[in-house]
Amino acid sequence: MTAVATHVSPWDTDERRELRALVRRFTEREIVPHLEGWEDAGALPRELHRRAGELGLLALGFPEAAGGEGGHLDSATVTEELILAGGSSGLVAGLFTHGIAAPHIALHGSPELVDRFVRPTLRGELIGSLGITEPGTGSDVAAITTRAVRDGDDYVVTGAKTFITSGTRADFVTTAVRTGGPGHRGVSLLVIETDRPGVHRTALRKMGWHCSDTATISLDEVRVPAANLVGPEGSGFRQIMERFGSERLSLAVQAYATALRCVELTIAWARQRETFGAPLASRQVVRHRIAQMARRATVARTYVRDVFLRWEAGGTGSSPGGALAPDLVTELAMAKNQAVEACDWVVDQAVQLHGGAGYLHGVEVERHYRDARILGIGGGTNEIMDEVIAARLGLDG
Ligand SMILES: Cc1cc2nc3c(=O)[nH]c(=O)nc-3n(C[C@H](O)[C@H](O)[C@H](O)COP(=O)(O)OP(=O)(O)OC[C@H]3O[C@@H](n4cnc5c(N)ncnc54)[C@H](O)[C@@H]3O)c2cc1C
Repeated sequence: MTAVATHVSPWDTDERRELRALVRRFTEREIVPHLEGWEDAGALPRELHRRAGELGLLALGFPEAAGGEGGHLDSATVTEELILAGGSSGLVAGLFTHGIAAPHIALHGSPELVDRFVRPTLRGELIGSLGITEPGTGSDVAAITTRAVRDGDDYVVTGAKTFITSGTRADFVTTAVRTGGPGHRGVSLLVIETDRPGVHRTALRKMGWHCSDTATISLDEVRVPAANLVGPEGSGFRQIMERFGSERLSLAVQAYATALRCVELTIAWARQRETFGAPLASRQVVRHRIAQMARRATVARTYVRDVFLRWEAGGTGSSPGGALAPDLVTELAMAKNQAVEACDWVVDQAVQLHGGAGYLHGVEVERHYRDARILGIGGGTNEIMDEVIAARLGLDG
């Protein structure tokens, strides 16, 4: 007998199948029955972070030296499966905020900062946020104005951050502050504990992502030890840019997973719902619409996964001196926009084919429709992604 070499996709190894099964059980038993209540409450319970920590889900994609294990592909697998099993991108945003808040500390922070903030966060004991956006600037990160002035062994921080995910619950905020002059070279990252005097938080209400709390955080002469600086002064912008790949890809994964979930939900609905004496699925126009939904979602998944593998193989841009190849930077932007475009179209069609039920609070496709809207705004907007692509095409302004 000739042995036939079969190619196993890295997304489908035995270990990742086991991981998927674990995440599916966790989602179906410990998330889905409560998700509507958390949406209404406007936040996730801390206990859920502890449980995700116990299961090892929060440590994935973090370096072992900081208490992490597994790779980025494992954390993307978790994101996919959480959504496919009935979770949502809002849930991913609220439960895995540490994925944008803690990597800078893990990679560039002192051992003391890693012990105080990263390890307990990966165990689910602390909640972290990332504070970059300000009322006056979002896409233009280099224009932040929150000021950190050195005073002895401390910085005194004054300014405001807004749209901060998990900001009402966070124990600490990895905050972009201006320690130097104007422009990107003057930006640093400082970990600010939220129980320090002068930190004030206001919850924001949003169109979607209801279970993921969001806050404006004002900083009024907050005294923060200089030891909370992450990496050297002036390295903040570079550290933020280093992370853009993982955030963009995570949002792209959330987008195609949401689209795939909506395809599944719509197929089940079209089989069961009867109009004019026959199931919706028997109408050619409906069958073709669902076929187009499936095609767009599948193409997005295939492209994002492909870029993901090349990004991981290329070192993710996070190692010292490990800048990403320019073509890969362009494709990260393409992958995000491709997945977001597919998702936007698919969630819209899913609501349409559900008829009036698709417009009702508590019906899953309605939640995905609202939640999907942020994916083309956060982590670099569609327009900023197009700018990245256009510049690579030689279309500089
Ligand atoms: C639910 C939610 C969660 C968020 N979580 C966080 C978080 O945890 N931490 C954090 O720091 N931020 C967070 N953000 C902020 C998010 O990253 C910003 O909203 C985003 O970067 C866009 O910035 P902005 O809102 O200031 O829009 P702006 O930058 O003001 O842009 C407004 C519009 O102009 C377009 N635009 C901007 N510049 C250009 C240009 N040069 N050419 C063409 N078009 C342009 C944009 O694409 C957009 O359409 C969150 C936002 C939301 C809504």
